[in-house]
Amino acid sequence: MCSFAVALALGGSAAPFAQPRPVAAWRAQHERQIVDELLQLVSIPNVAGTDADTRRNADLLDTLFTRRGFKVEQTDGPGSPVVFARLDAPSPSGVLTLYLHYDGQPVNATEWTRCKPFAPCIHSTTGPVASDPARTSFESQWRVYGRSASDDKGPIVAVLNAVEALRATGGGPTWSLRVVLDGEEEAGSGNFRRFAAARGADLKADLAITLDGPRHPSGRPTLYFGVRGGAGMTLTVYGAKNDLHSGNYGNWAPDPSMRLARLLASMKDDKGRVTIEHFYRDVTPLSATDMRAIEDTPNIEVALKRDFLVALPERGEERLEKKLNEPTLSILAMEAGGGLGAPARSAIPATASARIEMRLVNGLDPAKQNALVADHIRRQGYFVVEGRDPTDLERLTHALIARMDPRAGSTAPRVSMDDPMARAVVAALTRDGRQLVRLPTLGGSMPFSTFSSQMPTVGFSMVNHDNNQHGPDENLRIQNLWEGIEMMAAIMTMAR
Ligand SMILES: [Zn+2]
Repeated sequence: MCSFAVALALGGSAAPFAQPRPVAAWRAQHERQIVDELLQLVSIPNVAGTDADTRRNADLLDTLFTRRGFKVEQTDGPGSPVVFARLDAPSPSGVLTLYLHYDGQPVNATEWTRCKPFAPCIHSTTGPVASDPARTSFESQWRVYGRSASDDKGPIVAVLNAVEALRATGGGPTWSLRVVLDGEEEAGSGNFRRFAAARGADLKADLAITLDGPRHPSGRPTLYFGVRGGAGMTLTVYGAKNDLHSGNYGNWAPDPSMRLARLLASMKDDKGRVTIEHFYRDVTPLSATDMRAIEDTPNIEVALKRDFLVALPERGEERLEKKLNEPTLSILAMEAGGGLGAPARSAIPATASARIEMRLVNGLDPAKQNALVADHIRRQGYFVVEGRDPTDLERLTHALIARMDPRAGSTAPRVSMDDPMARAVVAALTRDGRQLVRLPTLGGSMPFSTFSSQMPTVGFSMVNHDNNQHGPDENLRIQNLWEGIEMMAAIMTMAR
């Protein structure tokens, strides 16, 4: 307790500046409780669509937030409930809305090597750490393994314990909190979107923070100011009306796989720059602050090449953090002749298809980007049909035919790094010398625009970058949990 008094004395009367140390000391005394809470949460299966399971998650979250003094409500109806928790500060600096999700990606338990996805365990760098109920401290390099340990239950536990630490060591958060917990983030966030549409006034705040996603690979805590949108299509090109014997009709039958390969190859140059006309035209340029933030970010190009065994990345002269702010075009799947897994047949396929994915950035419209791809395909001499196969007459009339099945996609919101509330968060997180990464655009997508269209919004990533989220052996490094608690406490008591 002595160290609290010293820290408070050194911090003077400005309470926010005295908070981080007491919070760290409280955490050191409550490691067992914090880790148990995470293990308990991760033990409940949480794949969206399994309503009985997701309700058990929601009920536990309800209990955990109620225990910290929040007023909690859950939505009813089919699907995963939205859990909404409110805590009012006595004379608040303002209102903060925090968005997190408690559902996780589907699992294939046979791929997990440390423990089963919903039977969490702890490993050190050398092997399993024996479960010992008497243990009161946990080494910071140990990791908790289990589905959603990082994505996104770890951050939920950080929020809960930041509040508890602040209540135990001082007056509690100085901001009123609105915590909204989505149970369907990995499955489209349907219930959350309906909740946000109906209860917008309750979510309205001076600042919203989305708490999701991994830190930058440099290991620094990461703030992001926008997310990616998406667009894309399935593209099919045609040969003859049906598969044809490759001996009898080879050199005669048009080869749709060759055509598709040529068409796709026309969309990017050898370095990896998309050659579709106007593809980059509408991108919102980065501001001077954005550019400076990217320059301040540790350069990880050498490590990325080594980790992923890549000799030369696409457009290798530019760094990844800059390219996150440009649209992508990737071929995620290609298929002809039933695929390589099908029994081998000596036939020239009738069609060949590819799934084209575009990740968008601020300024781009998904329908427009899809239309640019269609224009490009036409310029390569193709007759394009949308959402249907060509008619016999069209087949007899046009040598080259492509079918497009576009998907609706989404836009990519981004807010200014110069927003005063965004600056307040940066100041709170860096005041004890901590270094951050600030990214104009996060690689992933999430319901960021639900908030950013209504109020200043930033995203904050606290978990380790190598957490295997969405894959087997998802994990959370314990140090990231400890720092997450301290950083959330700093945000909840920040100066305006
Ligand atoms: Zn997530």
